[in-house]
Amino acid sequence: MAVITLRELTKVYPGGVRALDGLDLEIADGEFFALLGPSGCGKTTLLRTVAGLETATAGTVRIGERDVTRLPPGDRDVGMVFQDYALFPHMSVTDNIAYPLRIKKTGKAERHAAAAGVAAELGLDGLLGRRPAELSGGQQQRVALARAMAARPQVFLLDEPLSNLDARLRLEARTFLKKLQRELGVTTVFVTHDQAEALAMADRIAVMEDGRIRQIGTAAEVFRRPANLFVASFIGSTPMNLVDARVRGEEIEAAGTLVPLPAEARGLVTDGQEVVYGVRPDYLDYSATAAGGAFHGRVVIVENLGSTSLVTLDVGGVLLHALVGEGSEPEPDERGWAVPRPGRVLLYRDGDLLDGNDVTVAA
Ligand code: ATP
Repeated sequence: MAVITLRELTKVYPGGVRALDGLDLEIADGEFFALLGPSGCGKTTLLRTVAGLETATAGTVRIGERDVTRLPPGDRDVGMVFQDYALFPHMSVTDNIAYPLRIKKTGKAERHAAAAGVAAELGLDGLLGRRPAELSGGQQQRVALARAMAARPQVFLLDEPLSNLDARLRLEARTFLKKLQRELGVTTVFVTHDQAEALAMADRIAVMEDGRIRQIGTAAEVFRRPANLFVASFIGSTPMNLVDARVRGEEIEAAGTLVPLPAEARGLVTDGQEVVYGVRPDYLDYSATAAGGAFHGRVVIVENLGSTSLVTLDVGGVLLHALVGEGSEPEPDERGWAVPRPGRVLLYRDGDLLDGNDVTVAA
């Protein structure tokens, strides 16, 4: 178990792609940490650079007290689970799990006993003699996890570990993995492009864009107070409403409507300044009766999401989304009000959240 510390970490691939751009990051001992971001932002490169499968162009990687920047993967004391599991097809489950111990030259009897122990922890006991092709996707994923655990590494590195599972199995595996990580208490970094997965599983999340970290925080912090417009538009299963707006004295003019200026923005903006007004559909209540400080418009579409519905309201040509609960869905073409919840409105100026808040934002 160990702290992972990255300083000024840079990776430029041959050909000139700058996949990591002077990244600073500290992952706490025992933390379950997610690297989240769109395709190509550098998540896998970051994980592989910590694992030693890629060499940093500049900067340092420390695991615990050791500077491992120039060490080969085998000397870093990390266990890795790859997206495609990378199990050896010709080997039994036991031999797959025991493989890292074989590399460490552990004796056969000892490594088989260790493999059996880990397999039992992961509910694989009955499958030890099988080959990977004779296992389900979920079982293969557990074998890959067991292999990563076998040598009892200081750190687990997981690259999209759930993406090859179908939706139902993924939910089960998510719960299983989170519980396992809690029990083992091993510092774990996992890469995902699925924000629901990151929000559900991680203690903290780094949201990445173009080889940089745009925000680090807990699920609640990145969801409730995205530090910039990139994170605001990336996080949330229904995208945040982001509307070009202008300060008008003690109010904000957005979508042709005067709405109250959020309390925490007072004193930080001046009259006439351009800002972006942000509010999640989750925090915009729909009302069929007139309400003050609300957006008035026509219901364009109502989408059923199960226990909620997403209402799209046309407010003078600007489309706003509001989530409504079961039984209070409006009809298309009805006119109504979208009422922002006090304390849930965010203002962005020059792309950054305006409130002098306490979220940790990497430079
Ligand atoms: P994805 O979610 O699609 O896996 P990612 O966030 O993990 O993406 P990386 O795979 O780390 O992103 O890639 C970051 C950037 O580096 C991309 O522009 C990618 O094209 C580039 N890249 C990755 N591997 C190499 C390589 N071996 N040689 C050259 N460029 C590479």
